[in-house]
Amino acid sequence: MHNTQLKAAAQERPFILDPLYRSVTTLPGVGPRNAKLFERLCEGERIWDLLCHLPSDVVERIEVDQLREADSGKVVIVKAKVHKYSISRKRSVPSRIHCTAGDSALDLVFFHAREDYLKRSFPMGEEKEISGTLVYYRGRAQITHPDFFAKGDSAEAFDTVEPVYPMTQGLGHKVLRKAVQASLRLIPELPEWQDQTVLKSRGWQGWKEALATCHNPKARSMLAPDSKARLRLAYDEMLAHQLALTLIRKAQQKAKGRAIQPKDSVLRDKFLASIPFELTGAQKRVIGEIDADMASNMAMVRLVQGDVGSGKTMVACAAMLNTVACGMQAALMAPTEILARQHAESLGPLLDEMGVRYVVLTGRDKGKAKELLLQQVKNGAAQVVIGTHALFQDKVEFQDLGLAVIDEQHRFGVHQRLKLSQKGVSDVLVMTATPIPRTLALTAYGDMDVSRIDEKPAGRKPVDTRLVPKDKLEDMVAGLIRQIREEKAQIYWVCPLVEESEVMDLAAAEERFDVLQSVLGDRVGLVHGRMKAEDKDAVMKKFAAGDLDVLVATTVIEVGVNVPNASIMVIEHAERFGLAQLHQLRGRVGRGERQSHCFLLYGKPISETGKARLKIMRDTEDGFIIAEEDMRLRGAGDILGTRQSGLPDYMLADLSVHGDIIAMARSEAQLIVQKDPRLSSERGAALKNLLYLFNLKEALDYLRSG
Ligand code: ADP
Ligand code: MG
Repeated sequence: MHNTQLKAAAQERPFILDPLYRSVTTLPGVGPRNAKLFERLCEGERIWDLLCHLPSDVVERIEVDQLREADSGKVVIVKAKVHKYSISRKRSVPSRIHCTAGDSALDLVFFHAREDYLKRSFPMGEEKEISGTLVYYRGRAQITHPDFFAKGDSAEAFDTVEPVYPMTQGLGHKVLRKAVQASLRLIPELPEWQDQTVLKSRGWQGWKEALATCHNPKARSMLAPDSKARLRLAYDEMLAHQLALTLIRKAQQKAKGRAIQPKDSVLRDKFLASIPFELTGAQKRVIGEIDADMASNMAMVRLVQGDVGSGKTMVACAAMLNTVACGMQAALMAPTEILARQHAESLGPLLDEMGVRYVVLTGRDKGKAKELLLQQVKNGAAQVVIGTHALFQDKVEFQDLGLAVIDEQHRFGVHQRLKLSQKGVSDVLVMTATPIPRTLALTAYGDMDVSRIDEKPAGRKPVDTRLVPKDKLEDMVAGLIRQIREEKAQIYWVCPLVEESEVMDLAAAEERFDVLQSVLGDRVGLVHGRMKAEDKDAVMKKFAAGDLDVLVATTVIEVGVNVPNASIMVIEHAERFGLAQLHQLRGRVGRGERQSHCFLLYGKPISETGKARLKIMRDTEDGFIIAEEDMRLRGAGDILGTRQSGLPDYMLADLSVHGDIIAMARSEAQLIVQKDPRLSSERGAALKNLLYLFNLKEALDYLRSG
């Protein structure tokens, strides 16, 4: 087959899945109007999206003959006979229908109901099956706005357990339930993709039955994330992701890389002689791992995880010099202009000293100047190219690019990474300052080898971290001013995101800026997301040069920014930040000689968990511990915000509770790929359906073309 035909084939959906991919509008009770609501609620408008929207609670109903069998507040099912109406004419007063249920009286209460509707629905003298929450008002039993069945329906009975779904405004619960029940009937019989022995040993049902069980729980306990049905569905999703990563990884490894191994160690020796310190043990170990990867003729895809200040840049530099020594180019890409320039500033002198030619290329370069830079990249005059991630989107041509280093993984998603490795670069090194718990690292980075720099350069003093309630702000400021006057301390002052509104965010920062300026005059600077890049840079430069004492910033202050003299970090409303974010912000200080401080200001009232989280920050500086604790307290999805972290957005699995089955899914995925690398067996075909369901088309593409 022709290549484009292959591509087209890969996009094709296994036809057995068709019913799941129909629009919800094909379901009873779903029209074009509420389809929008369904789409908002389920993040998709296919039947499959609806099926992935699982109940979050249940209503448990008790069927009683006599009302006294149930306590007040319980949801009951009872037979009631109408004997009198008292219809209200006022909107604020409800209408009542007086009934007898067993041997006691029961009032049905309705607000804003029309008389004819009530009389039609509850004819005099008729017995009705009613359900609703039983309460007592002035000693009388009543049910407000009961559920009931019209005459003729009475063969149908109430479910004694009814699932309750997370809802969106405007969509009725009955409509949703009806649509879900109809969807369940449309689920095709798919061949089992799980291993029979796993199913047996875990006591798991088939996929279809598991979905039905989740939507029709028999008791509240069945909603637990570790209930068998939910666990099975979560495991399906995990396996799909791990399988995709394993397949992609295998294809990448097969992709012919180049052996990048300098013939001699001249440049490396020069590098080690040029830096004014000894590399840490962890740095040396990681450089060794990278050297070995690069020397092999397989493509390298390696992630280097290390706290802020652990010295990742030096590690990247060592790798880039390998490339240069082999006559190839290396690119270093940062997520923002500021960071790209900062890399250039810190690496520039080192590269100059070693006689390595480099250029800095960002979106800010225009016209002739840009052309000249691009030319140097194209003709190989530039051995190292430092820039933003845009380096890869723009039509930048390299003469011979051997290595791409990507800084700050958490803004560089899985899909982008895939794109990158399709660009023909031999080796890729990703650096991240976001320590991610091991279980999460597997899901996010299962397609990469991981190195950890888990040691800090010697002589770093721990940052003294304090929790300060906001009403003590003035005392703190007085202390800070003393530090500025007497010890020439420099301070970062971070104002938080207010309700994700950039405008209010800015207002808070500007207000703080004004207050501080009234005390410190022009030695206070302000940076925020709405400033032009040039203006931002100018302020940052002033701060770095020591011309500002305080830098007030919204969260735009960049993760990698390096001002060693800054020794104090103030974070307002610290409770609103993720721990990973706090950790990164705090990492801005503690880089120089002097004792550093971090003040975490919190607003009151603060929740138990909120306080516990801040205490973790106070008690440790180990990013890996912080990440694990944060996950424990908040759940995985919240650690950075899924989108930002590059973590996959799961439909059915929840990493904070299903984390332990990731390892299981991973080893199973590896076993599958080992035995059946092209998924051509019977089970392989079933697994392809699974990959398709979870939208992992890239993996399917690799299967077809690889
Ligand atoms: P990261 O990128 O991991 O945040 P950097 O590479 O920017 O860290 O290093 C932070 C600072 O520490 C830099 O000023 C760097 O020169 C310095 N540094 C790096 N490695 C060492 C080391 N082994 N010993 C002392 N200082 C180091
Ligand atoms: Mg860095």
